[in-house]
Amino acid sequence: AKAAGPGTVVEHSARLEDATRTRHALENDLHAAIPQGEIAVWYQPLVTVEDGTVVGLEALARWNSSRHGQVPPGVFIPLAEEIGLIDEIDQHVLGVACRDLAGWRVHHPDLTVSVNVSARNLESDGLVTAVEDTLADTGLPGQALVLELTETAIMQYPATAGAVIEELRSRSVRVALDDFGTGYSALGHLARFPLDQLKIDRVFLTGAQGGERGEQMLTAIVELGRRLGIDTVAEGVEESHHRDALVEARCKFAQGYLFGGPAPAETIAGRLQLVGGA
Ligand code: C2E
Ligand code: CA
Ligand code: CA
Ligand code: CA
Repeated sequence: AKAAGPGTVVEHSARLEDATRTRHALENDLHAAIPQGEIAVWYQPLVTVEDGTVVGLEALARWNSSRHGQVPPGVFIPLAEEIGLIDEIDQHVLGVACRDLAGWRVHHPDLTVSVNVSARNLESDGLVTAVEDTLADTGLPGQALVLELTETAIMQYPATAGAVIEELRSRSVRVALDDFGTGYSALGHLARFPLDQLKIDRVFLTGAQGGERGEQMLTAIVELGRRLGIDTVAEGVEESHHRDALVEARCKFAQGYLFGGPAPAETIAGRLQLVGGA
């Protein structure tokens, strides 16, 4: 090993120790986050490509920690998955989102809410029960709710995933395949599971697969969805030329900073008044 100094083994292990300590602190505090009211739900509009009408809202968890400040979902969601807290967080978000939506639907009766569901939730029948209870509590019809599952989640529990999807759809709850195009054997999932919505990952617009090739992939995916009777939503629409590509691909729905980023419920209520059909 080199002598002590920046970038040396000694400093490296000190940094690792810091990281471990931070992780432990985050882990401890995450356990208390829900009871302490630190997990908030923000919403991002899902719009029609044609005229930007808001048709739905995706619920996105936010952790405003009294000790760590705003912790990004990319950090606390995987942590919650590891330490077995994700079911609790997802069900909390489901409850809040459905209550908020029930209020908004008074003036926007067709508005839907999309809630993210982690793989772990597919392991047991807890999800279906939570959905049933929440719909009963809020008086929402099943059609008001979309549950977003990733390919990775479905792949982790292929047997129960099928059963859970059937159960949800028999209650008119719709199921979306999230981050489509980033996993593997994606086409196999489309054939095997009865899905209602495909959320096309932003890689086809902005990633290494972007550009003319990306647009062609996008067109092919939208066409595939159309033939299977599955709605397609393009994610990560940031620029007006992305929107042009969606028009060309005949993709009906979109989500992204171009149409509005995630925002707290109060802000969303204002936005709905500006752009809503009602
Ligand atoms: P996701 O489900 O794919 O959600 C979309 C993410 O893209 C959100 O990040 C959103 O803020 C971001 N986004 C929206 N428009 C744009 C855009 O135009 N460009 C770019 N670059 N990004 C955009 P966020 O809120 O940080 O969430 C990250 C991920 O964390 C989500 O990805 C989802 O997988 C997970 N997540 C968030 N909330 C929950 C939750 O309540 N439960 C579970 N299980 N996962 C959640
Ligand atoms: Ca999602
Ligand atoms: Ca996504
Ligand atoms: Ca083109």
